[in-house]
Amino acid sequence: MFLVQAAVAAPQVSDVRVGVYASKTRVVMEVSRALDFRTFTLPRPYRVVVDMPEVTWSPKLRAPPSGGLITGMRFGLFKPGLSRVVLDSKGPVRITKAFMIPPNAAGRPHRIVLDIKRVTENAFMAAYSRIGKRSKPGPDATPRLRPPVLKPKSKSGEKIVIMIDPGHGGVDPGAISRSGVWEKHIVLSFSKELRRQLRATGKFEVRLTRGRDVFIRLRERIARARAAGADLFLSIHADSIRNPRVRGMSVYTLSERASDKEAAALARKENKSDMIAGLDLNEQSNEVVNILIDLAQRETMNESTVFARQLVTELSKVRKMLRNTHRFAGFAVLKAPDIPSVLVELGYLSNRSDERLLRDPGQRRRMATAMTRAIRRYFDRQEALNQP
Ligand SMILES: [Zn+2]
Repeated sequence: MFLVQAAVAAPQVSDVRVGVYASKTRVVMEVSRALDFRTFTLPRPYRVVVDMPEVTWSPKLRAPPSGGLITGMRFGLFKPGLSRVVLDSKGPVRITKAFMIPPNAAGRPHRIVLDIKRVTENAFMAAYSRIGKRSKPGPDATPRLRPPVLKPKSKSGEKIVIMIDPGHGGVDPGAISRSGVWEKHIVLSFSKELRRQLRATGKFEVRLTRGRDVFIRLRERIARARAAGADLFLSIHADSIRNPRVRGMSVYTLSERASDKEAAALARKENKSDMIAGLDLNEQSNEVVNILIDLAQRETMNESTVFARQLVTELSKVRKMLRNTHRFAGFAVLKAPDIPSVLVELGYLSNRSDERLLRDPGQRRRMATAMTRAIRRYFDRQEALNQP
């Protein structure tokens, strides 16, 4: 019985080491059993990606190693069944060797070994375009965006659909606090609490873009909201910032022009999720990135603003808010043309007080209660406006 269970448990990655040699940088990953893996490199920014079947990760892996040509590392679930390690490299590199070695007498388990060498930009791009021609990405699984149509605001008898979007996930951890709290975990816990409270009102059908620790690309988050016929899209985050004294909640909506420098910088950071997760940005269509801000989108943006104000009113009753609390910028995840969308930063993981509040389930409950109240008020008002 025990043997059978051991055989089906997912393999674990227990350690990642970087060795620096004169001619190469060697990356060694220890895994609990042999597995198939695939490696490739990506440009702008330069990255080395290792894909493998779904694995678990040792808690030891929290401090990412770096050295030689490697400047950073992320890992996590890329999609169900596929785990990914993304290594940031110092400039263009080539994977000269990638192989697996069996356990040795010294007690080392199975190891994946990658040798990485620096190459010129031209050599990198030549190899990259050769590979591109051989394996063009298949037709995209993401549903095409339908032309924007604003839904009637009250559907008698039907429940209002709320899509909650816990930011980041899997190979994209989001912000990491000094004491080691990960944004992707905090925002998922919060989102589940918010879902619980919204459901308890009996008025809402509530969905999450992700219910577990898995990566989802930004446009897929929008596609899921649209497929569910969502009436409201709430993206949940918890930022970190260089200045450890900055704290408070803030609410963001989409705009062609950012309200201020900080909002623009935040949007740039949150928009990097796909890059962080090791996606080839050259393959992305510009569908979501360049959605025309047409009339429907403008009306959606107005609705988003109305909701954002309601949210700020309710949240400021229970929590400290950042000054100029409602800000706007070009967040890719808020670009659904027909769903009012806001992004909420629950607080700063870089601030000690905020971090403590975010880790406290009781405090998260209070924030979720305030948000639930704002959502109810927003839809009550819509209903009142639509009364004959
Ligand atoms: Zn975030």
